[in-house]
Amino acid sequence: MVRTLAGGAAALATAPLVPAPLAAQSPAPARASTAARAAIADVTITDVRTYMLRKAIVIEVVSSAGISGWGESSPNNRDLVATFIRSAMRAQVVGRRAWDAEPIWDDLFFTHLDLGPSGVLPYAIAGIDIAMWDLRGRLAGLPVHKLIGGARRDRVRAYGSFGVDGGRRMTAAQAGERAARFVARGFTAVKLRMQLRERDVDPYPDPTFAYAQAVRRAVGDGVELIVDINGGYTPARAIEMGRRLAGELGVRYFEEPVSSQVPEALRQVVEALDLHVISGEKEYTRWQHRDVIDRAGVDLLNPDVIKCGGITEARKIAALAQATSRRIVPHNTRPTLGTAATLHFAASLPNLGPFMEFPDVDDFTDLLAVLPVGGTFRDGHLDVPQGAGLGIEVDAARVRRAVVS
Ligand SMILES: [Mg+2]
Repeated sequence: MVRTLAGGAAALATAPLVPAPLAAQSPAPARASTAARAAIADVTITDVRTYMLRKAIVIEVVSSAGISGWGESSPNNRDLVATFIRSAMRAQVVGRRAWDAEPIWDDLFFTHLDLGPSGVLPYAIAGIDIAMWDLRGRLAGLPVHKLIGGARRDRVRAYGSFGVDGGRRMTAAQAGERAARFVARGFTAVKLRMQLRERDVDPYPDPTFAYAQAVRRAVGDGVELIVDINGGYTPARAIEMGRRLAGELGVRYFEEPVSSQVPEALRQVVEALDLHVISGEKEYTRWQHRDVIDRAGVDLLNPDVIKCGGITEARKIAALAQATSRRIVPHNTRPTLGTAATLHFAASLPNLGPFMEFPDVDDFTDLLAVLPVGGTFRDGHLDVPQGAGLGIEVDAARVRRAVVS
């Protein structure tokens, strides 16, 4: 098992990191705490490692204290993310102090900005940033949410999420069964991802209403429904469908009805509908979310912590959203480290929306044999982990054995 610094400063006081001058000058009790503080403050990063697991890429940040922090990046094109971290970012992080969250973030981002501010760059930074927050928490003996502003809640309502690939993955009846399974487990909100895409907009026939109707019938009226189009509508079609979903099925949340590449088109939908429009999972960094707010005008932003640059950047996006009276509904596709990181972020927010995403654990049997779930699910909510760091115990040997490439 990974070492955790139970007791934080007290435990470090026994490590061979005590500076000799302090030991010679101070009385015993003060010497212990002063030396421990100095030792914690001086911890540096000694290595950054990546591990490819089934449906995940995990990042380990190793420190001079002999303690590692663990993080996760989005697994999309993860070979590129791993290469980027190993070939370019590792050397920028090794030797740095564990506490320098923002200087390290800025160095990683602005050094490589020529590669583009989206995708691989913020994915890679996210994995390192989350691992470093986990490390800081383990060094301090505190959960991450206490280091990023404190907890405003100890649990977060979660919605179950599943995709139907435009109707190709399952029938409408099967979608209803899938949604009903979430409700049977205790979820009070479910997201139906239609996965209509920008490369074939406004498909005809359009399966969306039939699938949403099957889901509504299966779960009953008391469950909140989110319908995610995944960008595949024009504004006119989005407005037409949004009215039907709201009027006939009681849907209140409409995600990415048109491409996020065209924020002005999204604004047309936002202004025409009496629905909460959600967007932001494909936007990374505070600058892109500024455009979602200013140009698209959505009231619910769904940045993804393992994509958008990690906890450090997600906090900035949330502050920007607060300054314009918007709320955050975190996007979250991974059940383990990503979920834990999202929970600490969500716990700290003054402007958290009605829920966060939680994927179907049944889709991650292999991964969950290696890493634990990132938060305990009960009564429709995920408990915010209270252990040191992300609050997840990572078995490093098990992770290494599970590497698939
Ligand atoms: Mg989505």
